[in-house]
Amino acid sequence: MNAFKFEKVLEPIQIEPMKVKNRIVMPSMVTNYATTDGAVTERFKTYHQTRAKGGVGLITVEATYVHPSGKGFQNQLGIYKDELIPGLKSLTEVVHGCGAKIAVQLYHAGRQTTSKVTGMSVVAPSPIPCPVKQEMPRELSLDEIKELVEAFGQAARRAKEAGFDTVEIHGAHGYLLNQFLSPYSNKRTDEYGGAFENRMRFPLEVVKKVREEVGEDFAVIYRMSAEEYVPGGLTLEDTRVFARKLVEAGIDALHISGGVYESSAMIIQPAAIPQGCFVENAAAIKEAINGEVPVIVVGRIKDPVMAEQILREGKADLVAMGRALLADPELPKKVSEDKVEEIRKCIGCNQGCIDRLFQDLDITCLANALTGYEAEFDIETPAEKKKKVLVIGGGPGGLEAARVAALRGHEVVLYEKQAELGGQMRIAAVPPYKEEINDLTAFLINQVKKSDIVIEMGREADERTVQEIRPDAVIVATGSEPIIPKIPGVDQEKVVTAHEVLMGSVSVGEKVVIIGGGLVGCETAEFLADKGKQVTVVEMLDDIAVDVGSLTRALLLNRMVEKKITVLTKSKVREITAEGVIIEKEKGTEEITGIDTVVIAVGSRPRDNLLKSLKGQDIPVYAIGDCVKPRKIIDAIHEGFRRAYSL
Ligand code: SF4
Repeated sequence: MNAFKFEKVLEPIQIEPMKVKNRIVMPSMVTNYATTDGAVTERFKTYHQTRAKGGVGLITVEATYVHPSGKGFQNQLGIYKDELIPGLKSLTEVVHGCGAKIAVQLYHAGRQTTSKVTGMSVVAPSPIPCPVKQEMPRELSLDEIKELVEAFGQAARRAKEAGFDTVEIHGAHGYLLNQFLSPYSNKRTDEYGGAFENRMRFPLEVVKKVREEVGEDFAVIYRMSAEEYVPGGLTLEDTRVFARKLVEAGIDALHISGGVYESSAMIIQPAAIPQGCFVENAAAIKEAINGEVPVIVVGRIKDPVMAEQILREGKADLVAMGRALLADPELPKKVSEDKVEEIRKCIGCNQGCIDRLFQDLDITCLANALTGYEAEFDIETPAEKKKKVLVIGGGPGGLEAARVAALRGHEVVLYEKQAELGGQMRIAAVPPYKEEINDLTAFLINQVKKSDIVIEMGREADERTVQEIRPDAVIVATGSEPIIPKIPGVDQEKVVTAHEVLMGSVSVGEKVVIIGGGLVGCETAEFLADKGKQVTVVEMLDDIAVDVGSLTRALLLNRMVEKKITVLTKSKVREITAEGVIIEKEKGTEEITGIDTVVIAVGSRPRDNLLKSLKGQDIPVYAIGDCVKPRKIIDAIHEGFRRAYSL
């Protein structure tokens, strides 16, 4: 029984003239599930239907391009022509059928796209390339500006015709409206540039046109970045003024976010950015508008207790929980049913969602393998034939496989040779800013423990175990182990693995060399630097942390510089001597002396002895996760899910 009482989060609210049943908003998140010309697909519908069923008050459909020149992703939703209305209507009907309200976010990417995506030249207020997209945009003419104002208006009309309850004008994150508003991206000398009054002109014209098209009996929300977090960009002082103007222009609610593409880590914040990072900005904007319209706040709000606190303190009127709903679409329902401990929390990893989107792939979620595949799997219906399933290994893949097999009605036995479940997730949660992984580990363990799964802890399974249990299927999830490179001197006592360091099973001296500058090497370096060690990372490639998603990586590299971690790229440790290491560089060799500890972080190899020994058994044997090929947690969990489901 949960002692905490949720009151504000579950309270209805009016966003004139729309009533929302609770204060939880699903903010727009591009999925890449639409067709290439921007039409709704069945997958897109089922994904939203699942969130609506989960109890969210208001769903905001992803950034939806109002004009072909504003498309930002290959399979993004569009609302730029009337032919798209029937598909959008089928979406709003499905969501309404589950009791949620639905908004569409009207957007134009401006310079934050490429001609490869749009099929036409990139346009912007001024010919200044986005530092991330790096394509020189063409300056919009006055006629083109009028055309785009009209495009926003027509998109709003289509939204109303398609049955949306509201539209959200996307004025945040460095997209076109934000580009006009900001001195960082708008260097025009005509009536749309220069003074703040002029830079506000385009977004305010869009608001006016949208209102004209939808009339007074329809809610219009505006999303804005309260700060841009770039030199010369918009500050809170500017946006407080702009917020007032928006309210005067008849906006019904403001949605407060932050960042532009150059400061992307503030748009989709990795775990190193604090939870609730925009709450104070939302409160400042709310104060600037005297609370005249509701304020929505976004920004790593994943904990319903935090959400309730924000609302109770009056810092915002609604909370937008985006990735939290990718990880667990039923979060609002679980809050209302006092089952908060059952929530599968987002861990801020970005691996399944934004890292994939930035590779122009469709999104999913590391923690929730069903995200984006809701129509393909019916987890609640038992499998046709109940089977006895032996899962060997209690890491992320094994836990997920056991959980799903049990949910499907199978009889499951789980073997784990360690004294604790969780496998490498326990190690992965040790470096700085990674502790939220523990939330997912705890969720999986709780789910497994509360089911009928027989858990055999501290027991190593072998061929005999399989023969004794005689299961109908074996799922091998034995993981991986660190590779020890064949470097002369590697067998000395001062040589340890990154895993041993992170587990705390070895002592580490003051001067440390880490061999390998991938994710594990860099994170271990930061972990040790935080303990006051003097750390050097030696990497063969010409860059470090190349296996890390771009937003997380940018923050990690900055911190490594701040923490004075020495990085040697295009360098190879040739020998570990009694004194230190001999490094082979492009131009000869160098010896670093006085090294107390050498840490190996050059990758892992499959722990597949058991798998090999089970070959030839008369029982189907399936392998998942690292014991097939060492990869990321997302691969282990998703493989565990799919394999168990298909039994
Ligand atoms: Fe959260 Fe990671 Fe899932 Fe994205 S992939 S929603 S960051 S848990």
